[in-house]
Amino acid sequence: MDCIFCKIINGELPSKKIYEDEHYIAILDIMPVNYGHTLLIPKTHFRNILDMPDEYSNSIYYKVKQLAKAIKNGISCDGLNIIQNVESAGGQEVFHAHIHIVPRYKDDNFRLALQKKKYQDDAQMDRYAELIKNNL
Ligand code: 5GP
Ligand code: ZN
Repeated sequence: MDCIFCKIINGELPSKKIYEDEHYIAILDIMPVNYGHTLLIPKTHFRNILDMPDEYSNSIYYKVKQLAKAIKNGISCDGLNIIQNVESAGGQEVFHAHIHIVPRYKDDNFRLALQKKKYQDDAQMDRYAELIKNNL
């Protein structure tokens, strides 16, 4: 499969690996938002969280937490963003599931570029709640 992250996992492409176990690797992002920006990647090729089996999606945040603590303590950042981009509309560029753990600093002046809306009224908010609840 022509997938950059599969090639990194197979050792066909180099990476700065900071963690590995049976199911996951964590590597430094090659173009970090801040230095130490880390990607946690399941070794099995899934497109994103939507096609990850429950055994992965249930356990992945345990690893995220370990890495987040190691990053925060190791490089003394002030905070973190933990992000998974899903599909092109959500900013996903590499279609092998991964979670970004991004170090943040009080004075780094980055703002996530998501604009917030207001619901038109309470009924519209109820409709959105129902649409989601009906699919759980
Ligand atoms: P996405 O937009 O899919 O959520 O994020 C993909 C991330 O993978 C980007 O932040 C990008 O910098 C990173 N990336 C792309 N190619 C490589 C690579 O070959 N090596 C590493 N370490 N990171 C990569
Ligand atoms: Zn892959």
